[in-house]
Amino acid sequence: MIVAIDGPAGTGKSSTSRAVAGQLGLSYLDTGAQYRAMTWWMVSNGVDVSDPAAIAAAAGKPEIVSGTDPAGPAITVDGVDVAGPIRTQEVTSKVSAVSAVPEVRTRISRLQRSIAAAAEHGIVVEGRDIGTTVLPDAHVKIFLTASPEARAARRSGELKGVDLTATHEALIRRDAADSSRKASPLAKAADAIEVDTTELTLQQVVECVVTLVEEKRAAK
Ligand code: C5P
Repeated sequence: MIVAIDGPAGTGKSSTSRAVAGQLGLSYLDTGAQYRAMTWWMVSNGVDVSDPAAIAAAAGKPEIVSGTDPAGPAITVDGVDVAGPIRTQEVTSKVSAVSAVPEVRTRISRLQRSIAAAAEHGIVVEGRDIGTTVLPDAHVKIFLTASPEARAARRSGELKGVDLTATHEALIRRDAADSSRKASPLAKAADAIEVDTTELTLQQVVECVVTLVEEKRAAK
């Protein structure tokens, strides 16, 4: 059972994906964390992230290892635990430039497919291009959306003390960059089910996705 959950930032993808995986006994993969880990490595190693050729030349170097336990998803780069450092504002502001480089996407997509293939009991994979490009044969495809206001409010709630207007602007900028890039942009797959989470609680979204997965399982 492969479940792809895509959508822009602040729609509740991570919380939903982890809870669904936990409830259904599936593995979990946060693909955004992998792009963040790649970005963290580029920044830490002095690679100019405004230079796509420099990023492409370095894309094969970092060794990114992702855990798949929904209760505590781990991520390391060259053996270093980067779960904290990949969430900084610096990484967040630079990740779209790094993730737009085709060499980065090829390397990380390959890693994602091998992790999904190795998940014995199935996996929930969250990202931007999972249903369209990485795992187009996923059994269930969900595309989460929410109004920009709701997404910014959720993000600034997570990052305590951060200005709402600045969060809103940064989020819109990141979505625009992720949606307009040439290499596998953020997009809803034609066969994905869209769930607008603006007026829903996390529990309601989780119930909705769990029901869709169970229906699919029963039909198999
Ligand atoms: O999900 P998260 O906000 O942590 O993702 C960080 C960034 O990683 C996104 O803004 C996007 O640039 C990139 N990403 C991507 N493809 C994915 C997942 C994330 O390009 N499947």
